[in-house]
Formats: sequence, structure tokens, C-alpha cells
Amino acid sequence: MEPVIQLSLPLFDPPAFDDLLQQRHACGILTVIINRRLKHGWQVKVLPFSGKRQLSIPPFLNEAPEEIKNCLIGWALLPCRPQRSRKKTVREQRSLFEKKIWNYIESLPDVPRRMSRFNPDDFSGNARGHSFDLREVFDSVNNSYFGGSLKALVRWGNAGSRTSYHATKTDANGHRFNLITIAGAYNHRDVPRFAIEAIMHHEMLHIAVPPYKKNGRAVIHGKEFKSGERKFNWFREWRKWEHGKLPGIVRKTGKA
Ligand SMILES: [Zn+2]
Repeated sequence: MEPVIQLSLPLFDPPAFDDLLQQRHACGILTVIINRRLKHGWQVKVLPFSGKRQLSIPPFLNEAPEEIKNCLIGWALLPCRPQRSRKKTVREQRSLFEKKIWNYIESLPDVPRRMSRFNPDDFSGNARGHSFDLREVFDSVNNSYFGGSLKALVRWGNAGSRTSYHATKTDANGHRFNLITIAGAYNHRDVPRFAIEAIMHHEMLHIAVPPYKKNGRAVIHGKEFKSGERKFNWFREWRKWEHGKLPGIVRKTGKA
């Protein structure tokens, strides 16, 4: 027996969509369908011939409180082609419903995680470039600077893209992954080895020195990060090269 857990449970489950539809005598007009492929949004479809409506929602909205469920139903029942005189009212009602629903979604701490469809297998073949295999670069920097301790998936960004970044992702089973994306601009024959290693080192350092909060703001490139960055052997050459040579490569790849 663990009464503490009992106390944290809500006293009543929110009413089911079917109950709410019945209350409104709307069962014959609207059905609600749970669509696992929807991430955050919801949508309504008007079926041909019958004119009945189908509201599709992501699974987590099926657990929403009564008020939000009523907003979803109200939203789905708004006229698609209102009379001219009612157009403005309908538009206002719609945006009020949407605002309430989004406020609710954004108040949930774990929606993006629960909804994740991130699949690590998608990135297995995405590391080979024109001159560099990012997997090989990652492993070599990992061994030289991090004692082989870091783990991440690596991939190239879109052709000509200029930003590299590190992100953590969660797959459908709740496992966390580091994902490093290297700017497509670096995927070029003119990029020297030290530069690709430097940008990789920078992104890997984000795993080793994670961002923290200070006065409510996220510190990403803090003191510890910057001193870690300078431990990379060709740090200065890289900074110089990025300012002097990379822009020319970006211009070339942009056209390719
Ligand atoms: Zn950074």
C-alpha cells in the first residue's frame, strides 16, 4: 500500500469524448479518432455525401480535461463556410478555441517526449560525405580528446547549410540520444581535415559540457566550454579558416 501515490492521482478521470458528444447531441455529426501519427496538432475532415465530421487528435489529447475536449469539439463543429454575416464571429471563435488548446498543450511538460517518433536507424547511412566520413571523424576526435567516452549519432546537414548543432533526441521507447548535425557547407573537398575535426570537436564538447541555467538563462558557450574548446590543437587555425575560407566554400556549395 502506498497512499502517497493514491493522493497524486486525479480524483476523476476527464469524461470521454463520446460522453461529451452525447451531452451535445452531436454523436451523429462528429466522431473523434485517435491518430498516433499526429504529433501535436489536430485536424477535422468533412466526409463526402454524409457531411459527417471526423476529428483526428494525437493520443495525449484523449486525456485532456473536459474544458479542452469541449474546445476541440466546438472547434470541429464550427461551420466551414459560414454565412457572410457570421464569418467574423466564426473566425473569432475558432481562434479562441485554438488558443485554449495550444495553451493546454504547451503547459504539458512531456508532450514532445511522449510524442517522439525519432528513429535512430534513420541516420545510420547519413554520415558519408565527399571527403569525410563523419562517423570516422567522430571516433577519431572522441579517442583523441574525450577518451572515447562520448556517444552520438552524426549526420550531414542539408547541402550548403551553415549551422552545425548538437541536440538530444528521444526515441519511441524513451531512450535518449545525442545527435550531431554538421553544416552541409563542410561537406566539400576544399575543407581541410583540421576544420572538420574542429567543428566536430565543438559539437562534441556540447555533450561533454552541457548547457546550464544561470539567472534563468541558458549558458551554452560558458567559461568551461570555451576553455575546453581551446584544448583542440588547431583551434586558432580553425577560427582563422572559418572566417577566411569557409565563406567562399559556402558560395560554391550554395550553387551546387
Ligand atoms: Zn556551439
